[in-house]
Amino acid sequence: MAKKAAIFTRSSSSPSHTTELMKPFLKPFIIPIFIPHSGCPHQCIFCNQRAITGISGAIPSANEIHCLVDKFLGYKRKNRDRTELSFYGGNFLGLAPDRIQSLLDPVVPFVKSKKIDGIRFSTRPDTIDKDRLNQIHAYPISTIELGVQSMDNRVLKQAHRGHTAEDTVQAVTLLKEKNYQIGLQMMTGLPGDNDALCLASARQIIALKPDFVRIYPTLVIAGSPLADLYQKNKYLPQPIDECVALLKRLYLLFQENRIDVIRMGLQASDELDDPSTVLAGPYHPALGHMVFSKIFLDAAAKKIRKKTSPNDTVTITVHPRNLSRMQGLNKKNIVALKQLFDIRNLDLTTDATLESDDVVVN
Ligand code: SF4
Repeated sequence: MAKKAAIFTRSSSSPSHTTELMKPFLKPFIIPIFIPHSGCPHQCIFCNQRAITGISGAIPSANEIHCLVDKFLGYKRKNRDRTELSFYGGNFLGLAPDRIQSLLDPVVPFVKSKKIDGIRFSTRPDTIDKDRLNQIHAYPISTIELGVQSMDNRVLKQAHRGHTAEDTVQAVTLLKEKNYQIGLQMMTGLPGDNDALCLASARQIIALKPDFVRIYPTLVIAGSPLADLYQKNKYLPQPIDECVALLKRLYLLFQENRIDVIRMGLQASDELDDPSTVLAGPYHPALGHMVFSKIFLDAAAKKIRKKTSPNDTVTITVHPRNLSRMQGLNKKNIVALKQLFDIRNLDLTTDATLESDDVVVN
């Protein structure tokens, strides 16, 4: 049976280190509906959705959903062909059946009239069971994302997740039987976690063959239980440089296994930019860009190192789309390469005929 929806493009050839990251990813236009903490059976240690989203209200009514959809459809640009409505910020399948129905029913007419192509939501692995999947089967749901966070049960326990890695394996198995697009969300920097455990989690996630992943570094959000630990000096957040280095390794690992990483770090927002929301941790509005810049820095350094006769002038050429990634934030990469290899003149040029992942050094 075909997948519920063909949303994502995927290369059939084996990717090189930087191949997939440069591919233009066909992002659907998302209409977000936030249901902060709705359906949550546990207070996870790191979470405060109300602080992150700035939304503290109850579950939206049918009328509110209609208004939100109409409003967002007005923002849609012509180059975004697929439109999906997404329920975020809570545990969707943890809601009572009548609540789930009250959220899905108002969306159906938009799908029938082809204004929306599908529905997606995020939920906990331990809410996936046959009864719940049967309940939503008739709705036009294309994608289900699971908050996996870690595949290490000790880390999950310390994060107060209340589910295990085995729940995730079971959930993915059931979702695959129903042919949903599957997105798995993992975290870095959780209490008790480290780079080795995180990479081991990523390998177990890869074995589950999701359609895509998102990676969220742990932040200390005001009002979360983790904020208490942090203020008592019982939790040390990941420094941003270490976080970027780990994200780079995770990203490359997923890409080598042809799994799209569609987000690294929380989407920047006024709430997150407010220092009274994020008390500590590796938050940066351009975190993903920093990771890609590091990958380009490594690729350029590798090629410069191979030059048998270094001279005073080095020219790096990349596809125009990747100019800022090659430069790095505040041209940090250029400065680093000049210092590392004692280069007097380093020119950066672009060439649109290059493959999008190419880094050419002359
Ligand atoms: S991480 Fe998910 S399940 Fe946990 S408290 Fe936040 S919204 Fe609820």
